[in-house]
Amino acid sequence: MTDVSKGKVYLVGAGPGDPGLFTLRGKELMEAADDVVYDNLVNDSILNFAPQAEHIFVGKRAGNHSLVQDDINVLLVKLANEGRTVVRLKGGDPTVFGRIGEELTALNDADTPYEIVPGVTAGIAGPAYAGIPVTDRKLSSSVTFITGREAMESVSQERLSTKGTLVIYMGMKTMDEMVTRLIGCGHASNTPVAVVQWATRQEQRTITGVLGSIAERCAEEGIGSPAIIIVGAVVALREQFKWFEE
Ligand code: SAH
Repeated sequence: MTDVSKGKVYLVGAGPGDPGLFTLRGKELMEAADDVVYDNLVNDSILNFAPQAEHIFVGKRAGNHSLVQDDINVLLVKLANEGRTVVRLKGGDPTVFGRIGEELTALNDADTPYEIVPGVTAGIAGPAYAGIPVTDRKLSSSVTFITGREAMESVSQERLSTKGTLVIYMGMKTMDEMVTRLIGCGHASNTPVAVVQWATRQEQRTITGVLGSIAERCAEEGIGSPAIIIVGAVVALREQFKWFEE
């Protein structure tokens, strides 16, 4: 557990923002890192755990140069081959909508050793910090994680079932089309919805509404990315359980 060997890539989840939600293993690896290769949703306060390391930004940020996925894969292999301890830091959990598959494939192909360190995903932390348990004994016994794109296109109607909770990542830009698809799949337009922006950070904002008018509410309130959208009966629990923004 405490072994931190040289020439290895650690794919580490940075969590959703609040540094208190970062794992102990993650912190230990940050303290031992030579390089930290990070994306744009990683909170700067997590980078502070590795003041000694080279910080290499590879995310997309307006007006900034960013690397394409192939270049990131090549970079990780190259650094590890130089004997360096590399932390590949990804927002939330590295295995959730984080393109870890491409990076693992490249590491396998190059025989580069690696370790995966899970993190707290925004799709769980966002609801929790908004006072919304994603499952509830009476209201919802399942939860489906999807992206806004999938909600519109590739996900089958059964997976967009009205029975459980839907947690949608990257859904803000295409919210109108997504709402239309969900209603087309049988979701009532008065289904409760919450949107949590900048979850777990000081600037967290949450709004609630119903499916039919949530896009307008977001526009009115100026809520945009990054945000988690929660659809389903559990959203009503926020009224009783909200704690973070109080
Ligand atoms: N691997 C990440 C998800 C990457 S996809 C994870 O496990 O959380 C990027 C999307 O995650 C964003 O578009 C947004 O929908 C969501 N997201 C990440 N951090 C967030 C935060 N602090 N607050 C709200 N949404 C967040």
